Amino acid sequence: MLRKALPLINTIRELGVDDEIVLNVIGSIDRSLFLPPTLTHKAYENNALPIGQGQTLSQPYTVARMSAILRQHIQEQGINTPQILEIGTGSGFQTAVLTQLFTHVYSIERIKSLQFQARRRLRHLDCYNFSLKHGDGWEGWPSKGPFDGIIVTAAAATLPEALLAQLSPQGCLLIPVGESDQQLYLYQRQGDEFIHQIIEAVKFVPLVPGELQ
Ligand code: SAH
Repeated sequence: MLRKALPLINTIRELGVDDEIVLNVIGSIDRSLFLPPTLTHKAYENNALPIGQGQTLSQPYTVARMSAILRQHIQEQGINTPQILEIGTGSGFQTAVLTQLFTHVYSIERIKSLQFQARRRLRHLDCYNFSLKHGDGWEGWPSKGPFDGIIVTAAAATLPEALLAQLSPQGCLLIPVGESDQQLYLYQRQGDEFIHQIIEAVKFVPLVPGELQ
């Protein structure tokens, strides 16, 4: 754990995330490496921060909460070599966290320059168990699926059906849905059906459908 991350990790713990493995991973990855140089002094505040192109690095509490939900699900299901799909690579911080928790992480980003920077940062941190793709996350990544966990880090106006179709039999989808009022949903497969629960209110940039920039 990085010493400078301790107050932030305590804040996240106080907000209710008690998965010490997730907290330890988040506190061990230098968040300042995922920010533009002018914002590195804010790296250990519990806030979302701009990363250019109108996008944001998610709030650390949210990264912790979503990672902990995913890890709990994977553990409960007894999945041994979890394959995860992330939609919205952005800065790559959430991707880096996921690589430390799961076997392989696939991540899709629609803005090429962000994807490029994220790849450089992840390599710099000696992460190798990831694959990045420049594309539209609404479609998922069918050739690499099915996935044991899918995590969407942008808010979808409606549920992307393609993502549900790419879940493994025990898989789960964690996705913010809504526009001005967003809720974090957890979907789980149950045979041919899906059950869902609402976790909590969240605030994400929109998941943009369609064309690439
Ligand atoms: N997990 C990232 C969050 C970045 S913000 C982080 O913490 O840094 C959400 C990201 O989703 C943005 O980079 C945005 O470009 C991307 N995004 C939005 N719509 C998308 C889509 N349809 N497909 C893939 N990525 C998308």
